[in-house]
Amino acid sequence: MAILHRIFSRRTLAYVTGGTAAVLGGGYWYLNSGPAYPVPTKTTRRPPPPWSPPSRAEMLKELKASGKVTTFKSGSPPSEDQEFDLLIVGGGATGAGCAVDAASRGLRVALVERDDFGAGTSSKSTKLVHGGVRYLQKAVFELDYEQYKLVNEALHERRIFLQTAPYLSNMLPIMLPIYKYWQVPYYWAGCKMYDILAGKENMETSYLMTKGKALETFPMLKSNGLVGALVYYDGQHNDSRMNIALVMTAVKLGAVVTNYCEVTQLHKDGQGKLNGARVKDNLTGEEWNVRAKGIINATGPFTDSLLTLDNPAHQPIVQPSSGIHITLPNYYSPRKMGLLDPATSDGRVIFFLPWQGNTIAGTTDTPARVTRDPQASEDDIRWVLEEVRSYLSPDIKVRRGDVLSAWSGLRPLVRNPGAEKTEGLVRNHMIHVSESGLLTIAGGKWTTYRAMAEETIDQAVKTFGLDGRVKSGCVTDTVRLVGSDAWSRNMFIGLIQTYGLETEVAKHLSDNYGDRAWTVCSLAEPTGERWPLHGRRLISSYPFIDAEVRYAVRHEYALTAIDVLARRTRLSFLNATAAFEALPTVVDIMADELGWSYRERRRQIKAAVKFLGTMGLPATLMVEDNHPEPIPKGWMERVERGVWRAGKSALVLVGLTKEKADRLDAFGPGRSMFEGGELAALRHTFATRTTKNGDGVEKVGTEEILELLKDVPGYSEVSKKELDYVLDEAGFKDGRVNFDEFIEICGNLKEVSFTPSSVTNRMTIPVEKSGGGV
Ligand SMILES: Cc1cc2nc3c(=O)[nH]c(=O)nc-3n(C[C@H](O)[C@H](O)[C@H](O)COP(=O)(O)OP(=O)(O)OC[C@H]3O[C@@H](n4cnc5c(N)ncnc54)[C@H](O)[C@@H]3O)c2cc1C
Repeated sequence: MAILHRIFSRRTLAYVTGGTAAVLGGGYWYLNSGPAYPVPTKTTRRPPPPWSPPSRAEMLKELKASGKVTTFKSGSPPSEDQEFDLLIVGGGATGAGCAVDAASRGLRVALVERDDFGAGTSSKSTKLVHGGVRYLQKAVFELDYEQYKLVNEALHERRIFLQTAPYLSNMLPIMLPIYKYWQVPYYWAGCKMYDILAGKENMETSYLMTKGKALETFPMLKSNGLVGALVYYDGQHNDSRMNIALVMTAVKLGAVVTNYCEVTQLHKDGQGKLNGARVKDNLTGEEWNVRAKGIINATGPFTDSLLTLDNPAHQPIVQPSSGIHITLPNYYSPRKMGLLDPATSDGRVIFFLPWQGNTIAGTTDTPARVTRDPQASEDDIRWVLEEVRSYLSPDIKVRRGDVLSAWSGLRPLVRNPGAEKTEGLVRNHMIHVSESGLLTIAGGKWTTYRAMAEETIDQAVKTFGLDGRVKSGCVTDTVRLVGSDAWSRNMFIGLIQTYGLETEVAKHLSDNYGDRAWTVCSLAEPTGERWPLHGRRLISSYPFIDAEVRYAVRHEYALTAIDVLARRTRLSFLNATAAFEALPTVVDIMADELGWSYRERRRQIKAAVKFLGTMGLPATLMVEDNHPEPIPKGWMERVERGVWRAGKSALVLVGLTKEKADRLDAFGPGRSMFEGGELAALRHTFATRTTKNGDGVEKVGTEEILELLKDVPGYSEVSKKELDYVLDEAGFKDGRVNFDEFIEICGNLKEVSFTPSSVTNRMTIPVEKSGGGV
């Protein structure tokens, strides 16, 4: 009794309460006491000093100078200031990260990329800067220490990532919808562990939401059976712009970088050690040698190609797997909340995230072959749509036609060649030095690019004896990327007040160029309107402006229309059709900057349309006759166009191609308008077959529609294939439709089956019906 009395005495209770409060308060403080995120708003809004990077021609000159030796086997090396310490092959996240690291240590660095910077996997990611909650789940349930280390490292890197380029990345709350009560403690514990692992580097602590709150925040969510939701925080970024920021930072630190330059051979000295490479300019076909003390293979999914150049007997180590994403219009998700479905129909994880004003959904994980232009397959697109359908409210029709863009990226999963054969794939990244000294870095993820680069350059300094050449150790955790220094969260207001921009445009420029947005704006031509004064949009529904094209050419080494549409702006990732519409303007501005001829402009348009085809551009727009035509400048170009047109007319005459007007009919106005009396005929037919549902609404079975349409003038030719396509497209899966839905189906049927072009071309519901992505 006395003991009980003591235990429940006021003093003990006071100690317990005080202790609990201290622990909880201390824990809360610990998890939230890291450096403020994002960096505090600056008090000044002075534009940064202007900086123009060296031109590509200057870069090429430096690259060529390093290789001016008689032979690589015996010739005397070029002077110290011509030879590179490191030649990095590959300009994705990994290669660009290595270039920043090496250049910031004072090394003389060259980087060559055979396509455009970030054109590989690095522009095709899920755009998350994350520790990986699903890896944490594995770490805990499979007691896997490697997975735990991976999450721990990634969470640490997440913080550095968001601070070195604060304008390009943001914090994103991600919701895990919960449909079973037992999942509540399970998900809660998982998310809390994620917070605790992040420790002082945590962004915001995770929290539980009631069903009502979850639906208020994410109204598109399926409410049936929903119990509540957990919200945790991760980072999100603009991957290809981050890639460009890394490249430009390396350039600012003195690195020599070029896109469209491919390593085609590796050179070795008399002892079989690598000392240079043969490089080919893929734009001109010119080839030359580059001399370097060490070579880094950062070619991602193409790691094996370079290893084979080094040793033709090399056994492949990359096992690629493809991941696809689709872009949906912004009405599919709230503007500031992502969603993670941790248990899809086949156990894979799917993300559904707001990004750059639209919604992206993905990804898949399918074994694939290494190809330069991986493309999202129709099966994969349909799988993602099916998963999206399963957690969205049934009143949202998830349609194939709402897919504004689709892309595929290759995950370079690697096997360590130094490890025993029985060992599995490396979960994180792998660094390997071959006998000839080729240093390979592969695998990993965007989030950890900096840590990977640090390890790689540490290894390079050791392997290539560069101790005497470095000024310092790794400093990249504090190197802020180009655009960060004079950026602040409110900088966009200064841009509006100085240049008279629309708010959406100013925010977009600030969030994608950081303090370089001032330079972008200085290239903007006056609109001649009362408002906005500057910032002519490339296409009305997206905030990309003309000045970005000039900036991309002058300051970011954009050399093709695809570079601008895909990786400087992200238009092709957001909406392939919008990119197609912006194409002539982009080509026109680039022609002005780069002096493109009429023929070159037509070539650029053709190449860009082909590329957009891999991102989901409707087949009708792929037809050459529907490509936009550049406007000729001067009489020479007018003559050239005349000759070209005459050639085309000749082809039409001999029947090898068709007149453009034919095709364009498919895009004429009034597609779904019903003629006078047509609606009455449809109503009459509908009434003959309907039965009342339990809820009193008149409906017909979808299997009856084909039969029913046979009696309607003009609809008798509709095929089952076309009807099935439209039903699938519009998401009518539950078997019975009311009159409004029946009319919607008929409207869509008119679009896919009444147009006078090929069946494939007809089977497309135009993108404008998805809101055009706005
Ligand atoms: C679907 C998907 C989603 C992902 N999502 C995320 C995510 O949300 N968060 C995250 O942190 N990570 C994510 N990742 C991982 C991340 O995208 C990759 O780890 C990273 O982009 C790999 O970069 P890389 O530089 O190694 O490869 P790449 O970006 O492919 O770069 C390699 C480059 O080498 C060039 N090259 C090849 N051969 C030569 C040659 N001979 N000469 C010159 N250049 C050459 C290629 O053209 C290419 O540009 C995702 C990956 C995939 C596939």
